[in-house]
Amino acid sequence: MERLIASVEGSYDGPLMILIGGIHGNEVSGVRAAEDVVNTILLHNVPLRGRVVAIRGNVQALAENQRFLSYDLNRCWTEEKIGQILNEAKHPEDQEVQEMLDCFDAIPTNGHNPKVLVDLHSTSSEKGDFIIIPEDESQNPIIKALNLPIIIDLNKHLEGTLLQYMHRRGFISFAFEGGAVGSDEAHPLHVSGIWELLFASGMISEETRNQYSRYDQYITEHHLDLPKRVTVLYHHKVDTTQGFIMKPGYHNFMPVKKGDVLARDKDGVIEAECDGMIFMPLYQNEGDDGFFIVEEVN
Ligand SMILES: [Zn+2]
Repeated sequence: MERLIASVEGSYDGPLMILIGGIHGNEVSGVRAAEDVVNTILLHNVPLRGRVVAIRGNVQALAENQRFLSYDLNRCWTEEKIGQILNEAKHPEDQEVQEMLDCFDAIPTNGHNPKVLVDLHSTSSEKGDFIIIPEDESQNPIIKALNLPIIIDLNKHLEGTLLQYMHRRGFISFAFEGGAVGSDEAHPLHVSGIWELLFASGMISEETRNQYSRYDQYITEHHLDLPKRVTVLYHHKVDTTQGFIMKPGYHNFMPVKKGDVLARDKDGVIEAECDGMIFMPLYQNEGDDGFFIVEEVN
């Protein structure tokens, strides 16, 4: 499996947009969506300003349909950890990081403005369409174009995400979570969302966008009742030895009250510490964020 899906240079100067799918190897929707969009651009000679680059994240984990093989490829992008990895590659993901860095370094950035990184994910629970940003760029018109809930401070609770790293490299970077893993909505939402982002970045014409994006349709069906801007109140971290099991039936942005039973582990039941909305409840075996409680802010 190749890491680079395609690097497409437009006929006119303009922004750079990098699309990454499958940084978690079980989340294939983003990879397929990125493939579909760049294939359409190439096949139909879609007029393009700037450059679009589509790459696969965790290539080895994608081949195994696993979230990761030795560690989470979206928690290792601190300068310290990258330094260690560049010194010595011991684990499969070390090799992934090395190759991704080579891939980023090979992308021509000169003259491209702005530079945008779209990290395409899917989640393990329902109503999983939202945006995560490393800094509060919730007023950025490119990000706002997706019209999805924006989690403004999740990154304070997550160390070493690719978003934080690419933000340091000068990119407007955000995660575009397009619904639950394997759900019917994930693929069309990601595809239409990418066209919407290309349009909002000034890289394609309105005519092109109207031809390929069905985004409005998906957005009105699913998202009318979702919050716009959300902040994190509480983060329940888990490790694999605790036997964490989320209580069935929760989905993103479902209201909870202080004292509601949310999950259990080897020490007994886990109750909500405060009122709010449940966010990213963990319904898969891998991962060390059990759930978050969030609230809407203006
Ligand atoms: Zn993911």
